[in-house]
Amino acid sequence: MFETLSDRLTSVFSSLRSKGRLSDADIDATTREIRIALLEADVALPVVKAFVAQVKERARGAEVSQALNPAQQVVKIVNDELIGILGGETRRIRFAKTPPTVIMLAGLQGAGKTTLAGKLAKWLREQGHAPMLVAADLQRPNAVQQLQVVGERAQVAVYAPEPGSGVGDPIAVARQSIDEARRLQHDIVIIDTAGRLGIDQEMMKQAADIRDAVSPDEVLFVVDAMIGQDAVITAQAFMEGVGFDGVVLTKLDGDARGGAALSVRHITGRPIMFASTGEKLEDFDAFHPDRMASRILD
Ligand code: GDP
Repeated sequence: MFETLSDRLTSVFSSLRSKGRLSDADIDATTREIRIALLEADVALPVVKAFVAQVKERARGAEVSQALNPAQQVVKIVNDELIGILGGETRRIRFAKTPPTVIMLAGLQGAGKTTLAGKLAKWLREQGHAPMLVAADLQRPNAVQQLQVVGERAQVAVYAPEPGSGVGDPIAVARQSIDEARRLQHDIVIIDTAGRLGIDQEMMKQAADIRDAVSPDEVLFVVDAMIGQDAVITAQAFMEGVGFDGVVLTKLDGDARGGAALSVRHITGRPIMFASTGEKLEDFDAFHPDRMASRILD
């Protein structure tokens, strides 16, 4: 994860190690290197610019502790700024005052939504909740069955239209699922919606209609981190078409660069809430900006 950026930054910092103090020229050279490192990591340009400007300003000011040598000072500033760009604090789920809490997942097909639905449900179940998964992706032929398999593995209930029941309306399914959750005393409903391979107005409209029908407490945008800056473009399209409260990054295990993770918060203004790091249901956790920053600077 993020090997390229890690290696690059390590070499930037090691070149500062022999310096007794940093001149303006040193700071300029260092921030230039950081800029290149971020661009190579596929971080979106506005994010790179904001990041580098902050680092430069802080490195020039004498705000950092005198107890640190110049290399340590720069590492500390970069660490702080990475935490900031990744969102600062961990953003937790906002539970509804009156259950069930409704969480809706949106994103492109193949982003890892269905897998994520199972991971999130298992994670919540292990925290003492009683989640129910809802199959509102009625477009892809195997989507309902796939969610049922995931639900079984996660040991959580799945609400889906009976095969051949003629119920083909994802909005109706989503709406009915809330009543069913109340009846069966599930405190959380996780709605898996349809995705397409590319951004598509019809898909956006369906997701927006489901959102309007069930008024979710959280809309989570699920995105494959491996697509780099395309993740940012997709996020902007979903922000306009559906709107969302938080981001889930999937396939971080395969993301050597980190561009999506480092850009999406700044560009959309929405926090990264969860990270998925593999195909197994256990490969999942809340997203912690500070831990992610330390990993990058490790
Ligand atoms: P959906 O179309 O958005 O519902 O995506 P799926 O949940 O079907 O996932 C698409 C593919 O990505 C599947 O082969 C998953 O096993 C895989 N996948 C999902 N999440 C991860 C992850 O975090 N890491 C890796 N390596 N693969 C993942």
